[in-house]
Amino acid sequence: MENLADAFLRLDRKEIALLKAVERGMRTSEWASMEDVVARARLSPKAAASGLARLVGKKLVSRTTEPYEGYQIGFVAYDLVALSDLVDRDVVLSLGDLLGVGKESVVFEALGRIPPGADEEGAPPEGEEAELVPLAVKFHRQGRTSFKHVRRAREHLAGHPRCAWIHAARLGAAREWRTLKALHPEVRVPRPVALSHHALVMEHAGGTELYRVVLEEPETFLELILEEVASAWRRGFVHADLSAYNVLVGEEGEVVIIDWPQAVSRRDPRARELLERDVKNLLDHFARKYRLDLSLEAALSSAAADLGPGEEGGKEAGDGEVEVSTTDGAAEG
Ligand code: ADP
Ligand code: MN
Repeated sequence: MENLADAFLRLDRKEIALLKAVERGMRTSEWASMEDVVARARLSPKAAASGLARLVGKKLVSRTTEPYEGYQIGFVAYDLVALSDLVDRDVVLSLGDLLGVGKESVVFEALGRIPPGADEEGAPPEGEEAELVPLAVKFHRQGRTSFKHVRRAREHLAGHPRCAWIHAARLGAAREWRTLKALHPEVRVPRPVALSHHALVMEHAGGTELYRVVLEEPETFLELILEEVASAWRRGFVHADLSAYNVLVGEEGEVVIIDWPQAVSRRDPRARELLERDVKNLLDHFARKYRLDLSLEAALSSAAADLGPGEEGGKEAGDGEVEVSTTDGAAEG
């Protein structure tokens, strides 16, 4: 894949308008029709045709002529649509290096501003511009892998984008956004900054993944992490994909738990089981790497003293959502 920032810089306004138009068109039909694209992009048919031909040449858009002239975007083009929105909103000012490529995301570092009103902290003092902060932009990729399942889920997508991968990726980003909003700052998670399409912007947490560091005081860290697991549980959430890949350890010894799209409500029937699996993953890591021996029971009693159904924010985690991806909650890393 070519560099996303380069691809972005090589697009002109017309091409961006066309990508956005194709994306809008794909919400109602699999292939956005030429007429639809022309109307939405507010371009002359001639300008639209030449712009679309350039986008097809750049492999950002694919074209069909049967049963009508239609266009589709792929993931990279969709990333560009979200990025251009974030740039227009002044959230992202520059895009940096790739931070990580997971099974279900591509994450870039970026510089930007926290929009006023993102939360109380986010509003700059009057007359001042918010200062530049390091960000992480996570482009969700759910729906790229489990194709069969996604296709079957398509019939249930009334009122949602028809295109299953777009829907799955948007849903993943929206779920992660809501969970971060509910947990930050009481639980050590990245501060959520903005959401656009399938792209989630959060504060760059710094630090290094737990699996890549060698801790001098592993017990202390295990306790710290279990405290965060407990704190999330009290707020009604189970991470459901906790592992040494999804914990960042900072230079000052702080921990940040990342990667929350598959989090489930504490009231979910699987909540207890998923909590146990999360804690077990963590214990296995510390046992393997540091020979640290803590029983699951002991760890659970510190992680979730009260294992009854939760009252708080858990509603946000899963209720009323369409399950799209088979890998929900089962992904590694
Ligand atoms: P995936 O589901 O693809 O594993 P993650 O949310 O775990 O998605 O992000 C992938 C990688 O990107 C992480 O392992 C981490 O290295 C990096 N990353 C994600 N979010 C942040 C963040 N807020 N700050 C710094 N790095 C991050
Ligand atoms: Mn991860």
